Parts: sequence; C-alpha cells; structure tokens
Amino acid sequence: MYQLKQMLNDLVDYVYKDDPRLKAYKAFYIEVVDKKYKGRHGDYNHALKRIRLMNTYRDENKLIITSIHELAHHINHMQGNSDIHGKGFYANYEKLLHGTLDMGLVKKEDWLKAKHECRDSRSENKVERIIKVYKPKDSGYKAGKTKFTVYGAYDYKEDLKEKGFTYNKIVKGWEKETDESEYKIIQDYLDGKSLKYIVSGANKYIVKDPEKKEKQNAGKWTLSVQNSYPIKDDLKEHGYRYRKEDYCWCIHYNTDEELQVHLIYLNNLCFHYNIEIECLEMEKYFKRHEVRLILKR
Ligand SMILES: [Zn+2]
Repeated sequence: MYQLKQMLNDLVDYVYKDDPRLKAYKAFYIEVVDKKYKGRHGDYNHALKRIRLMNTYRDENKLIITSIHELAHHINHMQGNSDIHGKGFYANYEKLLHGTLDMGLVKKEDWLKAKHECRDSRSENKVERIIKVYKPKDSGYKAGKTKFTVYGAYDYKEDLKEKGFTYNKIVKGWEKETDESEYKIIQDYLDGKSLKYIVSGANKYIVKDPEKKEKQNAGKWTLSVQNSYPIKDDLKEHGYRYRKEDYCWCIHYNTDEELQVHLIYLNNLCFHYNIEIECLEMEKYFKRHEVRLILKR
C-alpha cells in the first residue's frame, strides 16, 4: 500500500500545491481489509483519518478510483466541510479526478468503466459530467524517480563518478537519482559488479547486499530506526525492541522480502505521523549487518 499512498500524496501535491493546508491533506493512512464486502468498496473514518479499501481482488485501477473517492472525503473534512456527498465533496472529487487525468494515473476510459464503483448512488452521472468538463493539462509528473545509494564501492569510484554518482559523506555512499529509462542500466551494472546498494524512491525500497547472501545462515539481520520516539508505541506493538546503546528501536529479519515489508510498513507509519525519513543506510554493527532508517528530528 506504500505505493498507493505515495501516489495519492503526489496527486495531492499536484492538485493542492498552493493550499496552506497541503500537509493536513496528506495526513491520512490507508488500511486494506482483506475481505469481501457486498455493500462497499471503501470508507473513510474522519476521527482516525483512515481510508479503508475492501474487495482488493478488483483490478488496480478500480482500487485507485475507490481510494480517490475516499481521499475526497478526507480533504473535504480537513477543509471543515460536513457534507457527505454534497458540494464540498464533489468540488474536491472533481479536482482530484482531473488531477489523475493530468498526471496520467488513471485514464478516462478506466474512470468510465468504473463509474458504478463509486459508492454514492448519484455519482454515476457525475463521473461522466466531470470527465466531460475536463480540459487536458500536462502535469509534468514523472512516476518512478528513484535514488541509488552504493556502499563500499571504493574500487569502482571512478566508474561511478563517470556514471554521474556523487559521494555522500554522511551516509558514506555513492548516490544518484535516476528515472525509469536509466534505472535498469544502473541496476544491471551494480548487480554485475556485486556491489552493495539500496534503491529508495516513490515506489520502491530494495536492499541488495551480495555479501549478506553468503552469510545468510550466520544469524539474523537487523533493521533499526533512529529518532523514532514519536512512533515508538507503534513500533513496540509491531514487535520492535529498544536498543539502549544507541537509542534505536530494532527488529530482526531473515529475508530481503521480509525487510521490504518492514520498510513499507515504516514508510506508511511515517507518512501517518508526518515524519520525514532522512536516510536509509547499511552498516555493520557489532559484526552484525544492519539496515538503519534515520528519521528527521
Ligand atoms: Zn463516499
């Protein structure tokens, strides 16, 4: 769901860029209910600022469309409006729908195909009307911007420099932002050299550590979260333990897939609490391998 949350954040950023309440509009979280519901595909709880998505067997476009309906409820609520499917709601819904068309997130045909997915019984015609009044605009939106950070690559530093990487002293790694077209080339290069790296970005978190694979059986790996005081109760509930030596909340994991699930959870949590993630790095900690997530103070 991290991917969807990030996408909705991008949409809100685009549609409401000059609105002073922008931050509040993005302060919601998404919960997926893994059950079939007859009567509804989603709902919004304004006390919890929670969007729930049901019937996730439906295709991705329909899930996005449901989430945008619920997002319109959230934004309408944050604007202090109390109508459920009234003027305020539809003003926001229209802006968001047009935003998805500008950004190419959902196509016109898909909106029309999914028009009965909308919970409001009167909204069927509204979707058609909203699409009719749409005037195309290019958002310049680029999905999939990602950042590579490469570690322990001393032997390859000239190569990396040539490829446009720059050294970040703080994380002790070589960094480069890429777009979709370059992504695969960089990834193949790094994999070919068996380098250690992290890919972080709008829709992915990948940690690659060839050295780790060899030692997979040597013990569990650790994910630690620094500056995590505001979210400590959530972490505790999710099985994280406090490490006194460096004031971190930690969890052990075994596989890369497990690590990714944790990172996506942490991302969602940080969005919910409006905390920025400053960086993600790898290091050895007491001879143990550790992935460290540092939150902004
Ligand atoms: Zn509704």
